[in-house]
Amino acid sequence: QVETLKAKLLEQAQEISRLRSELGGTDAEKHRDLLAAENERLRQEMKACEGELRELQRQQQAPCRDCPHLQENAVLQEQLSQLQREAEEARAKLVELDLEVQQKTNRLAEVELRLKDSLAERAEEEERLSRRLRDSQETIASLKSQPQQIKYIIKTVEVESAKAKQALCETQSRNQYLQEQVGMQKQVLKEMEQQLQSSQKTEAQLRAQIMMYEAELERAHGQMLEEMQAMEEEKNHAIEEAFSRAQVEMKAVHENLAGVRTNLLTLQPALRTLTHDYNSLKRQVRDFPLLLQETLRSARAEISQAIEEVHSTNRELLRKYRRELQLRKKCHNELVRLKGNIRVFGRVRPITKEDGEGPEAANAVTFDADDDAVLYLLHKGKQVSFELDKVFPPQASQEEVFQEVQALVTSCIDGYNVCIFAYGQTGAGKTYTMEGTAANPGINQRALQLLFSEVRGKAADWDYAITVSAAEIYNEALRDLLGKEPQEKLEIKLCPDGSGQLYVPGLTEFRVQSVEDINKVFEFGHVKRVTECTNLNEHSSRSHALLIVTVRGLDRSTGLRTTGKLNLVDLAGSERVGRSGAEGSRLREAQHINKSLSALGDVIYALRSRQGHVPFRNSKLTYLLQDSLSGDSKTLMMVQVSPAEKNTSETLCSLKFAERVRSVELGPVSRKAELGSWPSQEHLEVIKTLLGDSPGSAAPAGRGHASPSPGQLSSRSASIRRKLQTSG
Ligand code: ADP
Ligand code: MG
Repeated sequence: QVETLKAKLLEQAQEISRLRSELGGTDAEKHRDLLAAENERLRQEMKACEGELRELQRQQQAPCRDCPHLQENAVLQEQLSQLQREAEEARAKLVELDLEVQQKTNRLAEVELRLKDSLAERAEEEERLSRRLRDSQETIASLKSQPQQIKYIIKTVEVESAKAKQALCETQSRNQYLQEQVGMQKQVLKEMEQQLQSSQKTEAQLRAQIMMYEAELERAHGQMLEEMQAMEEEKNHAIEEAFSRAQVEMKAVHENLAGVRTNLLTLQPALRTLTHDYNSLKRQVRDFPLLLQETLRSARAEISQAIEEVHSTNRELLRKYRRELQLRKKCHNELVRLKGNIRVFGRVRPITKEDGEGPEAANAVTFDADDDAVLYLLHKGKQVSFELDKVFPPQASQEEVFQEVQALVTSCIDGYNVCIFAYGQTGAGKTYTMEGTAANPGINQRALQLLFSEVRGKAADWDYAITVSAAEIYNEALRDLLGKEPQEKLEIKLCPDGSGQLYVPGLTEFRVQSVEDINKVFEFGHVKRVTECTNLNEHSSRSHALLIVTVRGLDRSTGLRTTGKLNLVDLAGSERVGRSGAEGSRLREAQHINKSLSALGDVIYALRSRQGHVPFRNSKLTYLLQDSLSGDSKTLMMVQVSPAEKNTSETLCSLKFAERVRSVELGPVSRKAELGSWPSQEHLEVIKTLLGDSPGSAAPAGRGHASPSPGQLSSRSASIRRKLQTSG
C-alpha cells in the first residue's frame, strides 16, 4: 500500500507539474505581449493611414495647376488603386486581427474550462485523498490492534504518515501557491480582457474611421469617375467628330479613288496601245535618221528636179505671158482703133443752187438703168434719147470718171498722143471735170499723179521726163500761161527737120517730178490768168484752156526713145451767144468760139469717118492739136450737160454735137484712105496675126504715108471687121 501510495504521490506530483506547465503563466504572458505588440503596430499603421489620408485630402483640395488632366488622372488613379490596396490590406489585417482575437477568446474560454476542470479534479483528488487518509487512519487504527508486525507497520506508517503529512502540507502549500497563481492569472486575464475590450473599441473606432475614409475614397473615386466619364465623353465626342470628318473625307477619297480606278481601267487599254505605239515609234525613231537621210536625199533630188521643172515652166510661161501681153496690147489698140480712137463720153452735173428753184431748175435728164451709154432728155415735152460711149450720171465721182480715162492717160507713156476735151455750155461742169476742186481734183491732177506712179514703176528700165505747158486760146490767139509775156501771141510752126511735126516756139515747158510741182504750175498758170483778165469766169468761158503734158522716155537697155503727149483741154462755153443779138467784142468772141468748136467737130468727124482730108487748119485749136488728133492718137470728148430744165435747149445742142461726132461709121471709101495712112509696122503685125497671113505679104515701113495697094487692104479690112463683129 505504501508502495502504491508512493506511486500515486509521484503520479500526483507529475500531474501537478504537468498542470503547472499547462497553466504556466508564460504562455498567457507571451500571448498578452504579442497582442500588445500587435496592437502597437496597428496603432502605428492607423497613424500612417491617417497621414496618407490627410495628404490625399490636401492633394484633392489643391487646385490642379500645370499638369494635364490625363496625367493627373493617371496619377490619381494610381494613388487610388494604391489606397485601395492599402485599405484592402488594412481590412485583411483587421480580419486577421479579428480572427486572432476570436482564437484568443476561444483559447481563454478553453483555458478557463480546463482550469475549472482541474479545480474540480483537484477537489475530487482532495476528497479522494482525504478519503484515503481516513481509510488509512482507519486501517492504522485497525492495525494498532494487530500484532507487532502491525505495530511495526504502524510505526513505519506513523513515520511515513508524518512524511506524508509533510508532503501533504507541502502539497497544500503548493496548492495554495497555485491557487494564488490562478487568482493572479485570473487578474491578468481580467486585465487582458479589459485591454481586449479597449483594443476592440479602438478597432471599432478604427473601423469607423476606415469606413469614413472608404466613403471619402468612394466619393473621390466617384468624382474621379465622373471626371473621367466627362473626359471620356469629350474624348469620344472628339473621336466621333474626327471619325465623321474622316469618314466624309474618306468617302470623297473613295469616290476619287473609284473615279481614278475607272479612269485607270479605261486608261489601261489606251496605255497598252500607247505602249505599243511607243515601241513602234521607238523603232521608227531608231530607223528614222536613216530613213530621213534617205527621204531627204530623194526629196532633195525630187525638189531640185521639181524646182528645175517649175523654173523651166515659169520661164516658158513668162515668155508666153509676155507674148500674150504684147498681143493683147496690140489687139486692144487695134480694137480701139477699129472702134475709132475717138470716144465720146457724157457727164451730167447735179442740179446746183445756181440753177435756182421752181420749174426752171427741174431735172430734165434721165438715164437707162440697164445701159450706161444711154441718156434721155425731156425737151419741150418730148423725150429725146441719146447714145454715147458712156454716160456719167450726176452722182458719179471724180474718181469714177478718172477710172474710165486712165487707160488713155497711161498710153501716152507708151508714146501715144492723147487729147481729152471738156465740151459743153458754160456752167455745165467742164472746169469741174478737168481741174476739179482742191479737195476733189479733176482729170488734170489725177492724170499727172498716175503718170508719176507709172513712170516710177518703170524706173528700173526706163528714164522718163515729164514736162508741162499751159496755154490759152482766146479769140484765135494762142498765149503761154506759164511764160513771162502772157500777152504775147504765139505762133504754131512746122518743125524744120521735115518730120511734119508742129511746134510752138516760145511756149514755156516746166519739168515736173511730183504732185507738189504740178500744184505749183497750176497755181502759177491760174494766177497769170487771173491777173490778165478782169472777170475770170467770163474770160474762162470765152477761151480754151490747154494743159499739155509731154512724157519723154528712154529705154536704157535698147536706147529706144518715145514721146507721148497728153492734151487736157477745157473748152470755151458752147452756148450760142451770137444768135441772141450780141455785138462788138461779144459777137467777135462768139464767132471765134463757134468757129473753133465747129472746126473741132469737123476735125473729129473727119477723123472718125476716116476722111482723106481733115480740116485741122480751120482753127488755132485743131491746128495746135493736129498731131495729137491724127494717126494712132486717142481722143476723148467729155460732153458736159446741165440737167436743169432751163438749159435743155443748150443741153440738146451739146448732146447732138456729141452724137454727131460719135455716130460716124467707118465707111469703105474713107477706110481706104485711112488704111493707107496707118503708120506703124506694129499695126500690120497685128492685122497679120488676126488674119493669119503669112509674114512679109504686106510690109509698109515707118510713119510715112506710103500707100499699099488699096484693093488688097480694103478686102483685108473688111475681113477684120467681120472677124471683130463675129467675135463680139
Ligand atoms: P463750166 O466750167 O462748164 O463753166 P463749172 O465746172 O465751173 O462749169 O461748173 C459750174 C458749177 O457746177 C460749179 O460750181 C461746179 O462746182 C459745179 N459742178 C459742176 N459739175 C459738178 C459735179 N459733177 N458735181 C458737183 N458739182 C459740179
Ligand atoms: Mg469753166
